[in-house]
Formats: sequence, C-alpha cells, structure tokens
Amino acid sequence: MKRKIVLAAMVWCVMIIGFTQTKAEAKTRQLIFIGVNDELISNVDTQAYIEDGITYVPVRIFAEALGVEVRWNKDTRTVQLTKDDKSILLDPANKRLTTDTGEEQTLSIQTDQERVVAPYRFMSEYFGFKIVYIQEGPIARVVDGKETLTNEQFLAKYKAQMQAETEKWRKMQQPKPTKSAYLTFDDGPNKHTETILQILKEYEAKATFFMLDGNMKQYEGTVQKMVTEGHALACHGVTHDKNKFYRSPASAVNEMTTCLSTIKAIANVDSNIIRVPYGSVPYMKADYRKAMDEAGYLMWDWNVDSLDWKFLNGPKTANYTIEQIKKQAANGTAPIILMHDKATTAEALPAILDYLQNNGYELKVMTNSLQPYNFWNKHKVS
Ligand SMILES: [Zn+2]
Repeated sequence: MKRKIVLAAMVWCVMIIGFTQTKAEAKTRQLIFIGVNDELISNVDTQAYIEDGITYVPVRIFAEALGVEVRWNKDTRTVQLTKDDKSILLDPANKRLTTDTGEEQTLSIQTDQERVVAPYRFMSEYFGFKIVYIQEGPIARVVDGKETLTNEQFLAKYKAQMQAETEKWRKMQQPKPTKSAYLTFDDGPNKHTETILQILKEYEAKATFFMLDGNMKQYEGTVQKMVTEGHALACHGVTHDKNKFYRSPASAVNEMTTCLSTIKAIANVDSNIIRVPYGSVPYMKADYRKAMDEAGYLMWDWNVDSLDWKFLNGPKTANYTIEQIKKQAANGTAPIILMHDKATTAEALPAILDYLQNNGYELKVMTNSLQPYNFWNKHKVS
C-alpha cells in the first residue's frame, strides 16, 4: 500500500511538471469534456483535448475516472495501467502502447515533456467501458451501465458549467501578450456604446473613447461605466464641425477644454487626451498644434483606420482592420486602431479582439503620461 502511494505521488509530480511546460506550446488543440456515467469532470482540471481527431487525457484523470491503477516505473520510464486482470503498458519514449494480450499501438501516446497523455477511447474500451461521444461540448462520456441520465439530460445538467469552462479554457490557450495594441472609439457615446463595452468586458480588453461633449451629457451613465471598467476617457470636441472647430487655434482649444471639463464633471477623471475631428491633417497647422501643446493637451491620431464608417458592415470592417494591423506589425509599432461607436463596429469587434489576443497583443489605453502618436509625430509606440 505504502509503495503504491509513493508511486502515485511520483506520477502526480511528473504530470505537474509536464503541465507547466505544455501550456506555452498551444498547438491546435480542441477542448473536450470527460463524463463518467452521470458526472462531468471539470475540463479545466482535466486538461483533456482532441488533437488530429483523437481524444487525449492525462493518465491520472483516466485512472481516477475509471478506477484504473496507475504505476510509473522510473527505470523503464513506462506507465502500467491495471484494472482487474487487464493491463496496458504505456511507453511514452517510444510512443508505444502494449496490452497484456500483446496488442500494440504506435504513435498513439503523446508526451508533453514528462506528462503522459494517452488516447482515451482505446484505454476505456480495453478496460470494458463504453464511450459515447456527444457532439455538443464536445463530451467523451464513459458509461458502464450505471448511468441514469440520457445524453440530452446530461447536456442540460452541465450546460452552464461547460460554457464557463470553455471560456476559461479559451483564455488559457492564448499566448502571453508580448505586444501592445490600442483600440479607440470616436464620436460616442451613443446607443451602441453599451454593446461595445459588453464585448470589451467579455474579452477583458481596454479601449480609449474619444467622446463628444453633447453625447457624454446624454449618456452620463455610460461614461461612468467606462471608468469603472478600466477604459480611458478622452475628448473629440463639441461641435464636430470643421468650420467651427478649426475657425482658429483658440476655438479648437476651447472645444477641447469644454469637453475635458465635462469628463471631469461626469466621471471625475482628469484627462488631457484628445483627438481632433477628422484627424490632425490637414487642419492642425503649426499654430493650432502650438496652442494645443500650450494647453497641455495630448493629441492622438491613429495608424490603423478600420474604415468602419465607410463599410457599415461587421465582417468587412473586421477583415480590413485585421489586414491593416498586420501591416502595422511589420513596421514594429503598436497598432492604434480608429473605430466608431456603431452597430456594425460592435459586430466586427469580436473577430478583431480574437485576432489581437490570439496574436499576443495586450489591449492598452492611452494615458496622460504616454507620448501621443499623431500624423506630425509618428514615433514608435510600444
Ligand atoms: Zn469623429
């Protein structure tokens, strides 16, 4: 008995070491849930997955689920699985699985460094269990006649848990961010902003909102929510009318002063971050820029234009934006993405966020201490 505990502990250690090393690899693996009769085993704990159509489970989970005894032989570096009078020998180094009847399978064992991961179906069936694959989930459910739930009942019972774990799993698969990206939304807030905030929240992504004075007064609650949820508040002016805004350097500055004081009044945020209507070319001549500098305002433009206002189409906006982000990445500067608070932009947002997060970008916000990127100062933003 004592020996068995030691052996079991060794298998655990080996698997835990392996687990930390495998996370970075993140190959194209699909999540799968493991069910045993009427119980769903948490996938976040199991780390079971499908690769090339085969379901792999860590041997530890397999053993716990099916009552199979696991013995790790450190001299031969093999794992012996035993249940009743049947046994399977797993030889990870040689990618070989041998049964007590001499049946052999090669290339059917995966090793993630030291962790032993073996194909679930073969092992289960060899030990007399039946596997039912349920498309939704997906779930590999092992049954031995003791189950009481139908597949439909099983699904219904665990649906919420599976959804939550799928989300968690998706996040665990993402590479650790190494690059920055800045999402910016102009012209809001409006009735679409709440949808955008909801999507950003789901992705744990932050953005900077360049807002118009009147819109903020109309959607005070939305502005306050931006602060609570970690977004940056910035100004886009009052009139958005080029004849009024650019009438003089003073008129441009005044619109921003009014707008920024509205941010302060509504959300108690001291922001100096601005984006002028239509961007700083061609209207922001030297005397205008000097006036903004003297007022202490930080003028941002963009280097990725989503053209969301032109496409008014979610998929088109997403595809185009992603192409522009790739071009920007080749220049080695962080993408500063111009978008607007529109319904179609909200539709495009998940695909853009998926792309950014799957490609190692962290979504950051503009701050009062960040040197602004604009058409007059195209420095490399990191
Ligand atoms: Zn605008």
